Amino acid sequence: MPPRALTAIMEVEADLIPDWAAERRGMVDTQLRPRGIRDPRVLAAMGEIPREEFVPPELRLMSYQDDPVPLGHGQTISQPYMTALMAQELELTGTETVLEVGAGSGYAAAVLGALARSVISIDIVPAMAQLARENLRRTARGWNVTVLDGDGSLGCAELAPFDAISVAAAAPDIPAALLEQLRDPGRLVIPVGSRDNQELRVLRKLGGRVELRVSTLCRFVPLRGGEGWS
Ligand code: SAH
Repeated sequence: MPPRALTAIMEVEADLIPDWAAERRGMVDTQLRPRGIRDPRVLAAMGEIPREEFVPPELRLMSYQDDPVPLGHGQTISQPYMTALMAQELELTGTETVLEVGAGSGYAAAVLGALARSVISIDIVPAMAQLARENLRRTARGWNVTVLDGDGSLGCAELAPFDAISVAAAAPDIPAALLEQLRDPGRLVIPVGSRDNQELRVLRKLGGRVELRVSTLCRFVPLRGGEGWS
């Protein structure tokens, strides 16, 4: 039996730890469903994956807010809605091999991993790739994700083609290598525009043709590397 003072501290601390499962449900019900996230597999993945494990410990209380969260090195985890929208636009069924450019915290990679057969996620900043690996390892299942170091604006030729590609940083234009490494049929989702404002483009490759649609306006950190911003 702990001494009374200690019991009191333990009780106060228990009050301070949020009910993460309830917060996660709240995020799905107030941020995702009302804005048009309908794919039941995306809603289930977002309702299951512990976003708090991918947020820097000192910012954990922001885990389920309707905002991006800073990761350090000038990078951010996208707003939950944006992660869900990108996943939904890829129309994954569970059989796909996915390339993600910009691993960051590893959170979006975990969501994609829950929806596809496997995910290769690349980051150009070694500290970010390492962070993603640690976060994914700590959250037990690993979520079918392999994190690589490298310039994802050039894709990953050794492991191509990919059934789906998700780019989590803003590009000045659609990198040719990514379009080349996309399987037919396949889908690519990427923010394209200026450094400050972009549109989320969805490309569908089918029967040798590429169809393009704009999903929404958005704001991502800049894509660096060979086909990114210098
Ligand atoms: N998907 C992440 C957020 C990504 S933030 C998450 O859920 O947490 C954007 C990331 O893209 C940063 O980590 C940045 O280092 C990375 N990045 C920028 N340019 C890149 C490039 N050319 N290749 C790979 N990663 C890149």
